[in-house]
Amino acid sequence: MKLLIANLGSTSFKYRLFEMDVSSTRQLADGGYERVTAFTPCIEEMLERLVSEGFLESAEALDAVGFKTVLGKGVSGCVAADERVLEALEGFKAVAPAHNPAYAEGIRCFGEKLPQVPRVALFETAFYQWCPEAAMTYAIPRSWREQGVRRYGFHGASHKFIAEHSAELLGNEAVAARARQLYVCGPGEYNGKPLRVISCHLGGSSSVTGILNGVAIGTSMGFSPQSGLPQNNRVGDLDSMAIPYVSKTLGLDVAEAERQLTKESGLLGLSGVSNDMRDIRAAADEGNADARLSLDVLIDNIRHWAGSFFFRMGGADAICFTAGIGENDPELRAAVCAGLEGLGVKIDAAANAAVIRGKEGIISTKDSSICVMVIPANEEVVIAREVYRFIEAR
Ligand code: AMP
Repeated sequence: MKLLIANLGSTSFKYRLFEMDVSSTRQLADGGYERVTAFTPCIEEMLERLVSEGFLESAEALDAVGFKTVLGKGVSGCVAADERVLEALEGFKAVAPAHNPAYAEGIRCFGEKLPQVPRVALFETAFYQWCPEAAMTYAIPRSWREQGVRRYGFHGASHKFIAEHSAELLGNEAVAARARQLYVCGPGEYNGKPLRVISCHLGGSSSVTGILNGVAIGTSMGFSPQSGLPQNNRVGDLDSMAIPYVSKTLGLDVAEAERQLTKESGLLGLSGVSNDMRDIRAAADEGNADARLSLDVLIDNIRHWAGSFFFRMGGADAICFTAGIGENDPELRAAVCAGLEGLGVKIDAAANAAVIRGKEGIISTKDSSICVMVIPANEEVVIAREVYRFIEAR
């Protein structure tokens, strides 16, 4: 079965083509585009490339296209990416304005170009369905909660891959197997060797998730992907009273406040330089104080959430870094882990500096009681497996 996984990020489009059967997953091709503003031209170029380079006989030879959809109103899990999913994305478009329109565009584009090829969506919220209710509930009136205002959590495929692969790297096969089977079997009972992982997905969009024995117990992202850590140009957590306050003092209406919070905030709003960490770090290194502050705010927020899960899990066995910033910025990783020797975290400076550009590796010293590791993001393999199961089950 040939499966194409389309990953339409808030600023990037990545894809991977897999050949799968019951026992094996083989990647045939991958590629991507950065700083993307429109997806249709990327999709067209990618399909042409896959055919011209001989990975597919024709685009119609695909057995399915899988999508890493973000937030659907009333829909989660792994489902056919049909009109119901497009409606669910539309229903929460206002909550995920940087993501839902991108996926709706991608799903429609594939539907028009390849109407015979099944489209399947794995929602990012699926990984959080077993989080304790207390971790996902806001202290708001019942009527708000009945409208679906709660913590959902995102980056589910990425954190799920960390749950699986960190357990594999640490030799805990029971937890690895539990994590791999989670969407099929649910968490069930677990009485094996415990594993507490703090997973830091740091990219154009960032989140920290606590993972106990392969299952998420909570995450920094909440009702929308605007929450938690400061994002590339999106706000992160903000006291709800700030909006009525600026509406009075700055005369902003809700729509304008929302535009500024979703397009002109986050690392871009703080640094005034860019929404891209490479530009921000270069500016900070040249002495730009706003760029330095935006780095410091991001680091403080990562530590805030990592500390929260350390406490909630009664400690940690591993801290994992993944995604564009987590995989490529040793300075930021060192800053996140600084001063934690008392908790058992010791970074190996040389190993940390060496693990960049898609490399996997352990960046803590041998005597660090918490293992700190970098695991290149591999959301696509999680999606491919679930899409394969979905197509097989039909
Ligand atoms: P992602 O969303 O995982 O694709 O990550 C994209 C982000 O990774 C970009 O916005 C950059 O800020 C960051 N990034 C990519 N390469 C580097 C690098 N070499 N150093 C620091 N940050 C990087």
